Amino acid sequence: MTGFFDTRIEFLKGVGPAKAELLNKELQIFTFGNLIQHYPFRYEDRTKFHRIRDVSNSLAYIQLKGRIIRINMMGQGRKKRLVALFADGTGEIELIWFKGAQWMLQKIRAGVDYVVFGKPTLFNRKFNIAHPEIDLLTEANIDHAFLQPIYPSTEKLKVRYLDSKGISKLQKNLITITGQHIRESLSDRILDGHKLIPKKTALENIHFPKDQHILKKAQYRLKFEEFFYLQLRLIKLKLTRIEKFKGQVFNSTNILTEFYNNHLPFELTNAQKKVIREIYRDLKSGKQMNRLIQGDVGSGKTIVSFICMLVVIGNDAQVALMAPTEILADQHYKGLKPFADELDLEIAILKGSSKKSERKIIAEKLESGSLNILIGTHALIEDAVKFNNLGLAIIDEQHRFGVAQRAKLWRKNHTSAASGQSIIPHILVMTATPIPRTLAMTLYGDLDISIIDELPAGRKEIKTVHKYDSHRLEVFGFIRKQIVYGRQVYVVYPLIEESEKLDLKHLTDGFEAIKRAFPEYQIGILHGKMKAAAKDFEMSRFVRNETQIMVATTVIEVGVDVPNATVMVIENSERFGLAQLHQLRGRVGRSVHQSYCILMTNYKLTRESRLRINTMVSTNNGFDIAEADLKLRGPGDLMGTQQSGILDLLIADLGKDSKILEIARQAAQTVLEDDPNLEKEENFPIKQQVKSQRKSSVNWSRIS
Ligand code: ADP
Ligand code: MG
Repeated sequence: MTGFFDTRIEFLKGVGPAKAELLNKELQIFTFGNLIQHYPFRYEDRTKFHRIRDVSNSLAYIQLKGRIIRINMMGQGRKKRLVALFADGTGEIELIWFKGAQWMLQKIRAGVDYVVFGKPTLFNRKFNIAHPEIDLLTEANIDHAFLQPIYPSTEKLKVRYLDSKGISKLQKNLITITGQHIRESLSDRILDGHKLIPKKTALENIHFPKDQHILKKAQYRLKFEEFFYLQLRLIKLKLTRIEKFKGQVFNSTNILTEFYNNHLPFELTNAQKKVIREIYRDLKSGKQMNRLIQGDVGSGKTIVSFICMLVVIGNDAQVALMAPTEILADQHYKGLKPFADELDLEIAILKGSSKKSERKIIAEKLESGSLNILIGTHALIEDAVKFNNLGLAIIDEQHRFGVAQRAKLWRKNHTSAASGQSIIPHILVMTATPIPRTLAMTLYGDLDISIIDELPAGRKEIKTVHKYDSHRLEVFGFIRKQIVYGRQVYVVYPLIEESEKLDLKHLTDGFEAIKRAFPEYQIGILHGKMKAAAKDFEMSRFVRNETQIMVATTVIEVGVDVPNATVMVIENSERFGLAQLHQLRGRVGRSVHQSYCILMTNYKLTRESRLRINTMVSTNNGFDIAEADLKLRGPGDLMGTQQSGILDLLIADLGKDSKILEIARQAAQTVLEDDPNLEKEENFPIKQQVKSQRKSSVNWSRIS
């Protein structure tokens, strides 16, 4: 946008310094540009009139056209109120004013026609409207029936007359003077090709829509534009990176072949093979890999990552694998150590709790290059950890790590004296949270994506049921039967200790109750506040089937792999989000035995909780669940990505507008393929827009 939209908001008619300060603080509106992009979040339809006869509880707001028949001042003192009986030929309804009654009494008259707008409430089995908006029914009123924009506002703003209506007035003042200042920000080719209305028309109609039809067009145009520039940036970022960063070439497959021929524990699934091929292609391409592996829980990501490690190690480079928790890091270490031993590779683990002496040995081996694989937690990204030649950094269960932490992995090699730069490792990110396509495109728009969309053969669908707390005995009976068959059980609680929520079944209470109910079995307990050694102890007892039931919090949510465990009981399951429930369920169903997930709740469930539970019961497919989650919660929540700054969308909605996103991404792709540096004249509007956005945007470099 041009300089006009950079004008400070206090210079707008109707604002001034005091209101400007409020707008700054409350809505982050600093400039004309910010205000015009403060879009309504809904519209009230003032194009239609209701009939009093049809008024019901299901109507939020109604607009009536009729006549005031009678006006009375009623009650005494604080109960004093003005009541007007309003009729439209189909029925009668009371209009009531508690505040400003005296003033209203001056304003309205019996026997005169009005248009009334407000929210009907039921009192003594009759509907009334308290504090309605009321206007004389004039010709103008009828002709100018319209869609009224409703703007986000805050209590503090409302006190200063900057409620939705107040903001609407400011928008009017602004729109009146913007005129020629609104610059078209998309090329003619895109406007024509996608049948988009001009920017100016879109902005005018998003605030003051003439009718539903043009409003839809305005919304589409602005959403398209928002997605278009988001995707343009992401795709550009990827292209630049491919150009700028050379990747080490890894093409020898000696160790890999040795592993395939003599040590592979099972036949890989086709999906695993496909993903390995995609990664191998990257590793020998000479370009730096930035790839995301998406695979549902249990799809076998670990072995895929190990096989990729072997390619890198076979070419004399080192590998790091970073996990979000110590339990997971341990598990990776224990899982991969036997393979590493068979292949004569050096593997080590580094955790926050690692001793100084251990750290020293690891540091030496890392620097000399004799350590092939380093597994660890956040401890890996501490500055002290330096590799001789890190060829590949793998990040497991990616969404637990922040963007900045990931970026640190890029700088784990010593700086080369010759170039003054350090060699950047290939990056492989693994996530078990299936991400809907639309979200992946946005969050990881600059990464290549590989999907493992197949579970190893012989897996049975996990049977999921919903049980009320009152059926606990039945559930205990079921658990006992499974243990008799030789299986093991998880019981998961949402909290660790007593909290203010007294209705919650607590972990420790639960542990005691289960101990009483199953005196003949060994019960383990696991939660986040335990010391690492104690967690370790409990976990390894469970792995060896020395404990049959593991009572735990969500520390077991990600990655834990005990194939003999076949029952997952989730207490207070209404307190968990869908993604989390799916993760927890993924801890079972890891062997040929039939597995079960039992979702416990009490009888009182909100509509949303019930939807979540029903979704879990009806599908095992992680992608379906992720889609449902996106619809229920919205994207920010879903990924915990607020920190990414990517999801601050002004008008578009990743959940609802995924079609527009795909179209806009395709359009951005087409533009950059044809004109990577936006040098063509037809793309001038796009280049301009990119420039003006760059000023205000987050640091996009090196987000992986
Ligand atoms: P996730 O993708 O959730 O990390 P894991 O890598 O932990 O899954 O694998 C889950 C389980 O499936 C592990 O016990 C693993 O050894 C096993 N597994 C992986 N791939 C195969 C396969 N192709 N055939 C049989 N079992 C497999
Ligand atoms: Mg895993």
